[in-house]
Amino acid sequence: MNTPARTPPTHAPQTQFAVQGGELLVGGQPLSRLAARIGQTPFYAHDRALLARRVAELRAALPAEVELHYAMKANPMPALVGHMARLVDGIDVASAGELQVALDAGADPRKVSFAGPGKRDAELRQAVAAGILVNVESAREIAPLAAASTVLGVPARVALRVNPDFELKSSGMKMGGGPKQFGVDAEQAPAVLAEIGRAGLAFEGFHLFAGSQNLKAEAIVEAQRKSFALALHLAAHAPAPVRTLNLGGGFGIPYFPGEQALDLAPIGAALADIVAEAGERLPHARIVLELGRYLVGEAGIYVCRVTDIKVSRGHTFLVADGGLHHHLAASGNFGQVLRKNYPVVIGNRMDAPAGEPVSVVGPLCTPLDIIAERMALPAAQVGDFVVVFQSGAYGASASPQGFLGHPRVVEALV
Ligand SMILES: *Cc1c(COP(=O)(O)O)cnc(C)c1O
Repeated sequence: MNTPARTPPTHAPQTQFAVQGGELLVGGQPLSRLAARIGQTPFYAHDRALLARRVAELRAALPAEVELHYAMKANPMPALVGHMARLVDGIDVASAGELQVALDAGADPRKVSFAGPGKRDAELRQAVAAGILVNVESAREIAPLAAASTVLGVPARVALRVNPDFELKSSGMKMGGGPKQFGVDAEQAPAVLAEIGRAGLAFEGFHLFAGSQNLKAEAIVEAQRKSFALALHLAAHAPAPVRTLNLGGGFGIPYFPGEQALDLAPIGAALADIVAEAGERLPHARIVLELGRYLVGEAGIYVCRVTDIKVSRGHTFLVADGGLHHHLAASGNFGQVLRKNYPVVIGNRMDAPAGEPVSVVGPLCTPLDIIAERMALPAAQVGDFVVVFQSGAYGASASPQGFLGHPRVVEALV
């Protein structure tokens, strides 16, 4: 019997940006015009309308009671954080530096929370002074929080970040379950809760973040259910009623061939159950999700230009003016085990047929500087725009811009 020829997996269609006359439109503008306005390549462009649409779609799919927080480590560009602060219910920061950006952006301190291991005493004091919620990740944080509270005369608002006794299955990055540097192990949580009570901190609830970049709705639902059950169990040990229950996030976006967009419907349905049960068993609690890449990742592109075309032993290399130093994740060096291509196009030849596979590389003198490896792109010329989709999260701020001394990337919100 003949087995049917397997077609190689393809990227999920990138339809969020429109095309006009063969050219990609960003914020309604042709790419070449935007590049002229920005005045250089490479650059990142983030589309405000797409950001707003994503938040609206998510709200439509989830129960109205669920609050959405933006985890700004995904993209800390100040203008973008300002835009997001008006769209979502709160901002999650992971350092005092991010806290400064969030407050400058107009975020309401009552709806800002601070997570991360190794918070410095100075950062904890800044957080107390700002009046934000600190997700306590270690018993060590309790004393400096109590001291800051006494000195400043304001309560130290805290939630306990719990390292759950389960993992988020099928996750790109696991951040809970097993031994982890994040949070307090669920087994140790009752003792730490007692200590929080003795220190007189203003306890407000729990934070559970199991992992990141997950495209399987069932896995996310399972993690949320287990997180909720764990929170119910730990609430009995809490020094005060639970007012906030942050169930994490982990919603992924399709980056690589064969990946498909997350199905929100089962997540919305499961959260409706959780909201209903919380209404009875944790009647004072707000349910919060904190999302980074899911909110901003698909609304941003990275754009660089072809500066040279070389053929080496029959293989064509498009050499671009941007690469790994601006976009580490697209080069495959930000947590990937096997390098795979992000969705890449020639932004001024959107209607042209694909040719023979070519590789797109950056200007760095290292073989790691790859933007696309053996991808069937339209025949390109020097000066053409190489566009990397799915680049709104973990871009500029997650890349080693100092490496090799090339110019820094520009970011625009359009
Ligand atoms: C990184 C992080 C996030 C955001 O993760 P995404 O994959 O971008 O959604 C949210 N919460 C915490 C605690 C994080 O560390």
